[in-house]
Amino acid sequence: MRLDKFLGDHNIGTRKQIKEYVKNGRCKVNGVAVTKSDTHINENVDEISFDEIPLTYSKFHYFMLYKPQGVVSATTDGKNKTVLDLLKNENVKGLNPAGRLDIDTEGLLLLTDDGGLIHKLLSPKKHVDKTYEVHLRKELSDEDIRLLEDGIDIGDTRDDGTPYLTLPAKIIKQEKDGEGRPVIHLIIHEGRFHQVKRMLEAVGNKVEFLKRITFGPLVLDEGLSPSEYRPLNEKELKELG
Ligand code: URA
Repeated sequence: MRLDKFLGDHNIGTRKQIKEYVKNGRCKVNGVAVTKSDTHINENVDEISFDEIPLTYSKFHYFMLYKPQGVVSATTDGKNKTVLDLLKNENVKGLNPAGRLDIDTEGLLLLTDDGGLIHKLLSPKKHVDKTYEVHLRKELSDEDIRLLEDGIDIGDTRDDGTPYLTLPAKIIKQEKDGEGRPVIHLIIHEGRFHQVKRMLEAVGNKVEFLKRITFGPLVLDEGLSPSEYRPLNEKELKELG
């Protein structure tokens, strides 16, 4: 693999920046500074560092995508564009989204070919926190907030027929959008079907716009526009565990 591709995969910078960084001797291969970004390396054997920080090579690929509205969180779809279509230039086999966002929901989606990690993150026991920016039809009352934060009946039932309430959620921000609509930031710990929309419906409200801004330790990169993506960086990979 070329050194500039390796550094690009680690989100070190654009190809032009990487060329400059390497020229300035900031990258070492097996402890020796190299100055040509088209140097060939063996990512499985060579020790690569940037600014003295070792960069580990993973056989898996991890991408943060800013999913736009109108695209489905599936690998194939007969009708609509899929999130995989947005990453097709990567030519990575076996990529899957870690969970789903509705077609009209936008925001942070992790895509990876690391099935073990997806399994771990989506396991019901794991309760990965997710934060949503939720634009509402009307203001929430104190009672609505209490119900949402305590756990609410959204129509799901347990095997014995009793209501299966949502886990306690947290509203961490309340503000107004440009059109004067109420906006909340809501943290939930599960990933039930249409969960946020159904929680708000259960208090007689309606979600007008939904965007996911965090998923576990990952925070949607403000530098990304809808449909854009980037590889996860070393810090994010470490935090995902
Ligand atoms: N909750 C929803 O209702 N929709 C989503 O896409 C994600 C969470």
